[in-house]
Amino acid sequence: MNIHEYQAKALLRGFGVPVPEGYPVLKAEDAEAVARQLKGPVWVVKSQIHAGGRGKGKFKEAAAGDKGGVRLARSPEEAAAFVRQMLGHTLVTVQTGPAGKQVNRLYIEDGSDIEREFYLSMLVDRETARTAFVVSTEGGMDIEEVAHKTPEKIRTFSVDPATGVTAEHGRAVAEALGLSGDLARQAQDLAAKLYRAFVEDDMAMLEINPLILTKDGQLRCLDAKVSFDDNALYRHPDLFRLRDETEEDEKEIEASKYDLAYIALDGTIGCMVNGA
Ligand code: ADP
Ligand code: MG
Repeated sequence: MNIHEYQAKALLRGFGVPVPEGYPVLKAEDAEAVARQLKGPVWVVKSQIHAGGRGKGKFKEAAAGDKGGVRLARSPEEAAAFVRQMLGHTLVTVQTGPAGKQVNRLYIEDGSDIEREFYLSMLVDRETARTAFVVSTEGGMDIEEVAHKTPEKIRTFSVDPATGVTAEHGRAVAEALGLSGDLARQAQDLAAKLYRAFVEDDMAMLEINPLILTKDGQLRCLDAKVSFDDNALYRHPDLFRLRDETEEDEKEIEASKYDLAYIALDGTIGCMVNGA
């Protein structure tokens, strides 16, 4: 099960992970009041869909404007105007496929002063059967492209479940990001908190792209993509409530009612099998 960025950030905040202050908007008329809860001077209005690449995405409808799915506003009024433009329209990104996804929720967030953008993700690595960190100095862009063109810029290491995350893993994250001194300590602290969130909430994947260094020397998670292990969701009724069925495939929703692990695929060839 996937969740929205704003939900993922709220979860991570609960584990003490540094994320910008922000509030979701579901109705256009609420947008300005929501934006006024933040002090500015920059407001970031972000489309909430279960797909990445929103910043560089394009809306199908001309009425939504051509500034992508993540927009910087200079006032609460401008933030509200962006919400009105984007809400209800279809955003197409490299991850949505050509059909795109309808934007039914937006997130208004405090704008950060970015010094550098990094990449950090966690996942269950089947090869080592352990939780792994994937870290790179090349954040903010498509990690598949980094992996293809400059694989040496991506560092991966796994955590032994018997020891859990240790200071050594924290140091490895800091080193992979080229951080020292106080920033290395922040990276260590972040790695420990993310690991705890990942394990306690039975996540299958956690991707922070970008993790940023602010101009005033703070590490902060600017984007957050989380998916959970469906087989463990019964342990987390609170997380299950975050499910947004409008983001899911109709056939998969129907199958899940019967406890069937069905995965819808593109194409015109049918398969009848016993597995997922
Ligand atoms: P996506 O990965 O779907 O494009 P992101 O959340 O990563 O969405 O946002 C795209 C880019 O927008 C980021 O790489 C960053 O440069 C900028 N951005 C996002 N959130 C903020 C913010 N709170 N403050 C400043 N810039 C932001
Ligand atoms: Mg991103």
